[in-house]
Amino acid sequence: MTLVIASNNKDKLREIREILDGTGISVISQSEAGCHFEAEENGATFTENARIKAKAALAATGLPCVADDSGIEIDALDGGPGIYSSRYVGDRTYAETCREIIKIADEKGVRGCRFVCAVVCVFPDGREITALGKVEGTVAKELKGEGGFGYDPMFYLEHLGKTMAELSEDEKNSLSHRGRAFREFAGKLKETGIC
Ligand code: IMP
Repeated sequence: MTLVIASNNKDKLREIREILDGTGISVISQSEAGCHFEAEENGATFTENARIKAKAALAATGLPCVADDSGIEIDALDGGPGIYSSRYVGDRTYAETCREIIKIADEKGVRGCRFVCAVVCVFPDGREITALGKVEGTVAKELKGEGGFGYDPMFYLEHLGKTMAELSEDEKNSLSHRGRAFREFAGKLKETGIC
């Protein structure tokens, strides 16, 4: 079955397509579906924001739509920036933002962090499927790696001795918040018999 992804983020779209490859679920971006707007993400949780984006795309296209809302929770920032992860960067680059976070984590001596991804898929008949994926890590001592995007060079996986940006795309998808959330979603979609 084909779903519209309520996102224009090329990095997320690439990862979602790879994760869903072989599941029988294919995806087109909302711009490919003729939908050229960004819904206002004014929810209080990742799941609420994903639902807002998915419902806005459904209203515009009339097609089944899936959205992910994701971000990083950093213990040294009391769980922030969380749902504000992309806005937290502001006018800075990701590298500048990550270096500032490393400084704060160093000063506080607190390094725990996690990526979170909520998935919501909505259908024209009102049905809805939700899924949530998380991956735990620590704030790296320094930025490393060229892969992935966003906060990946700062996200250190102790058991691998690498940052998320040092992993291949397949390795990242096998353990990432987005990989976990979309595999859970694909399983639930199969169980419903819709796909
Ligand atoms: P969204 O488009 O509102 O879901 O924004 C998610 C933001 O969280 C991204 O722009 C990144 O800043 C951050 N983020 C989410 N997933 C990842 C990831 O896999 N790697 C690095 N940063 C991520």
